[in-house]
Amino acid sequence: MPTASEAIIERAKKHLLQNYRWQPLVITRGEGVRVWDAEGRRYLDMLGGIATCALGHCHPEVTAAAKAQLDRLWHISNVFYTEPQISLAEKLTAESGLERAFFCNSGAEANEALFKLARRVMKDRGHLERHEVVSFESSFHGRTLATTAATGQPKYQRGFEPLPPGFRSIPYGDLEVVKQAVGPSTAAIVVEAVQGEGGVRVAPEGFLRGLRELCDREGLLLLVDEVQTGMGRTGRFFAFQHEGVRPDAASMAKALGNGLPIAAMLCREDLMRSLPAGSHGSTFGGNLVAAAAANVAVSIIRRQETLERVRQLGDRLLEGAGALMARLPEQVAAVRGRGLLVGVEVKGEPPKVVAGCRERGMLVNLAGERTVRLAPPFVITAAEIDEALSILEAALKGV
Ligand SMILES: *Cc1c(COP(=O)(O)O)cnc(C)c1O
Repeated sequence: MPTASEAIIERAKKHLLQNYRWQPLVITRGEGVRVWDAEGRRYLDMLGGIATCALGHCHPEVTAAAKAQLDRLWHISNVFYTEPQISLAEKLTAESGLERAFFCNSGAEANEALFKLARRVMKDRGHLERHEVVSFESSFHGRTLATTAATGQPKYQRGFEPLPPGFRSIPYGDLEVVKQAVGPSTAAIVVEAVQGEGGVRVAPEGFLRGLRELCDREGLLLLVDEVQTGMGRTGRFFAFQHEGVRPDAASMAKALGNGLPIAAMLCREDLMRSLPAGSHGSTFGGNLVAAAAANVAVSIIRRQETLERVRQLGDRLLEGAGALMARLPEQVAAVRGRGLLVGVEVKGEPPKVVAGCRERGMLVNLAGERTVRLAPPFVITAAEIDEALSILEAALKGV
């Protein structure tokens, strides 16, 4: 007799597109930092959805807000005003220092909005030749054609050519390289303050500040992709705030709805003229149930005590991972991260470490080919962080 999970996975193999690198688990329930599979086995979710459920699974206040909205109004055309969207825009513009918000449904869509904005702004300024967006190698900006073109990783692009023109990626973290790369056709630079999917790579100190200065000097837009790093993940509401810079526009998504699909593109007041009525939009963008959840998620995450908690627990996780590397130099190549976004680069066979964690009751995945990504919900306790580190250590030793 197959187990309940095996039977479900068999069905998945027959009818789902096999586009994911599945882990062989059927997850049926979640609460806080824990999830359960179809056999009732419990797991510590160190992936936090996938950096989406920042307040943990089924956070009571977020759930209550979504349920209340479900009984009131699910959806209405975006040609009508709705209060949850407006409240959310007020909060996000206050946190970011960017005065305008546009809502959509995914990180890729938010980045598309960034790129469309950049092209329009340059046309409106009379710079018809400035159409190119410079991005960085090992970046990740999404799976639509334009965001695939912007993503500086050939493995995501292979076979999808011809990709939309107007994107070019260059090495990450080196200002001199960026200065050489921008030219008369450059419209904007798009950057992650910490490259998440690319292997948890933190930009060197001063990099974002340097990009800001360069963009100011050359008349380019600085676009920051905060899809993964926004919503407090790195210990500030936005990762760009660590460097005290204000981008011209930013995107956010993953944790915005604590797991419900909602995303935002935020931009400077003076740029919004370039996307006037009719120029851009989204049917479901800022969906009311997702927006209701996001309002609560943002209200909790923007509290100083939440951000302080992320910083303290993040330090514990990073230091613990560093100690692990010192004990297991044969297994661990590097440890990187900021706040509760930590990567442990593994020597040997990284997929086996992921499987070893799963067998020991902990969910993680790989960012890039070799880096175990830890992005737990912020409600994790210090004891659970220590638990996660000891499971990871056991998994590394078991390989
Ligand atoms: C996840 C991610 C995206 C894509 O978001 P989707 O919601 O999957 O479209 C874009 N940029 C970054 C930095 C991400 O981490």
